[in-house]
Amino acid sequence: NESLIRQMRESLDNVAHDLRTPLARLRASAEQALRSSDGEEVLREALGDAVDESDRVLTILKTLMDVAEAESGAMSLRRVPTDLGTLVAAVVELYQFVADEKRIRIESRVEPDCIVEVDGTRIRQAFANLLDNAVKYTPDGGRVEVTGGKTGGVVEVRVRDNGMGIPPEDLNRIWDRLYRGDKSRSQRGLGLGLSLVKAYVEAHGGTVEVRSEPGVFSEFTVRLPVAKPAAKGR
Ligand code: ADP
Repeated sequence: NESLIRQMRESLDNVAHDLRTPLARLRASAEQALRSSDGEEVLREALGDAVDESDRVLTILKTLMDVAEAESGAMSLRRVPTDLGTLVAAVVELYQFVADEKRIRIESRVEPDCIVEVDGTRIRQAFANLLDNAVKYTPDGGRVEVTGGKTGGVVEVRVRDNGMGIPPEDLNRIWDRLYRGDKSRSQRGLGLGLSLVKAYVEAHGGTVEVRSEPGVFSEFTVRLPVAKPAAKGR
């Protein structure tokens, strides 16, 4: 219990800290605009900045609430028999453009007939976050591999990149809300992607795990229970 309470306190501290920065910037641009005797153009720019910072705060709060909802088991899931290969292919296509810009090759091979009973929107978002990270944390010219298949009663999908990797001491903390690796701060991000992946996958009765070697690779494995045969083709 003590450790749980400590963790909750720490994550509350993190939230407070992460909301403070955009709110402080929002206030600063509003204040600057109020004091300014410059023309409409300058005022408009300040208002634009204020809108951007508000959006950032709202995104943080919305994601935190989604994660909390999924973790508490209160999230309503619209589960439908879904071919995970097709779902993953659609996500890969979404990231092809960003990958092309970095000359990163995405190879995707998921066996046919990997049917899981999932809320497509949520699980698509989970894989989008994994792909987003893989492309983001892999240098130009790198490679991302997405492979999947059925083993026993589960469908397993791995997202592997040959990017910067994750130091061993970070492997447990990357799942925490708002946690960001020291070397990752030069990239955009809120530190919420992986907590969302974990919460959404676990809400479906699945698991997610990571393996990595710094400077060599990172590999995230998502496992989801195979849909019961009766549910197939419903
Ligand atoms: P964000 O990417 O916004 O920082 P995430 O919750 O998605 O937040 O990830 C948490 C941290 O885990 C990142 O800051 C980064 O240090 C590390 N990480 C996640 N995915 C990868 C990856 N594919 N390669 C290297 N590091 C990663």
